[in-house]
Amino acid sequence: MKRARKILVVVHCILNANAKVYPLAKVRGVHKEVVKEHLDAGLGLIQLPCPELTYLGTNRWGMTREQYDHSNFRSHCEAILRAAVTEMEAFIRGGYEIVGILGMDGSPNCGVHRTCMGYTGGEIGTGEGIRRQLSQLVMVESQGVFMEVLATLLKGRGIHIPFLAVDEENPCDSE
Ligand code: SF4
Repeated sequence: MKRARKILVVVHCILNANAKVYPLAKVRGVHKEVVKEHLDAGLGLIQLPCPELTYLGTNRWGMTREQYDHSNFRSHCEAILRAAVTEMEAFIRGGYEIVGILGMDGSPNCGVHRTCMGYTGGEIGTGEGIRRQLSQLVMVESQGVFMEVLATLLKGRGIHIPFLAVDEENPCDSE
């Protein structure tokens, strides 16, 4: 019986950077440096679905937390998380340890300690519009929408799993 009975849950783009908003991907595919130590330790991985990719596809713009913070989007997050939360619950009931949920700080959805806020309204356009939008962007100490929905679903089932994060700008520096 070789299994380590330990599992790490990761946000989708840690194992598939193709899900990131263009041009934010820092690697071609898998963040190998982020998962290597966990793989070497024998952990299994659960990959969460990407809420943005499954809602808006690959051609979406970068958006902020308050833009995603809408009841329909939260319902979408709940729907795509249902299977993963059931999977986590099944492992825990089976005596497995889920050592953490690894999010992506800076993301409007997957931020754990830090997320991005700021919306000027209207069309982005080009040049001045983008500069104006970017000038409003701030990082705040808060969870992203998707992580918040996940935390609520877990709490509702009486499950406690620590939330961890890598930094979106430098995913190799885990917190
Ligand atoms: S941080 Fe979250 S929302 Fe953004 S690409 Fe990764 S999985 Fe998708």
